[in-house]
Amino acid sequence: MSIERKLQQRCESKCELCASSEHLKVYQVPPTSKGNEDDCLLACETCINQIENPDTVDANHWRCLNDSMWSVIPAVQVVAWRMLNRLKKEGWPQDLLDIMYLDEDTLKWAEATGEGEDDSNKIVHRDVNGVILNAGDSVVLIKDLKVKGSSMVAKQGTAVRRISLDRENAEYIEGRVGAQQIVIITKYVKKI
Ligand SMILES: [Zn+2]
Repeated sequence: MSIERKLQQRCESKCELCASSEHLKVYQVPPTSKGNEDDCLLACETCINQIENPDTVDANHWRCLNDSMWSVIPAVQVVAWRMLNRLKKEGWPQDLLDIMYLDEDTLKWAEATGEGEDDSNKIVHRDVNGVILNAGDSVVLIKDLKVKGSSMVAKQGTAVRRISLDRENAEYIEGRVGAQQIVIITKYVKKI
């Protein structure tokens, strides 16, 4: 029997997070090890999209965790714990985290992706002078940069407004030069 079939039986074909019955897909809870249904949950597109794209998270959608955090399935507990941590600044998720219980192994799994760590452990982007860069800042290029995948050169002195940060790599930011969204290496920019 396929993983998907097993999951459908486990959750009666409802999203294991929000109970929606539409657009269900298998979500492998990272980092996976066993490669079977124990590492997976069946979730709707809305849930999966928001898990995978932190920028698009709608806190209200995750009120569903109020119920699903009590699931007996570790994979569901892990994702619930991660999303509550991601949203804890809202207040109510922190209250739920305070009463949530994960056994030792499950907690280790939940913590494996770094969700819920203090901000001090997060990736920090710094410009050429070591000044911290935040999303939305403006920077200026300190040398001519070839734009990958085009013949364009972004000239030294070009201002790039409203940058965004690469969440996985402290060396990269993104910004718009002319009409083009480009990736820029932080050591070639200065905050303005
Ligand atoms: Zn869902």
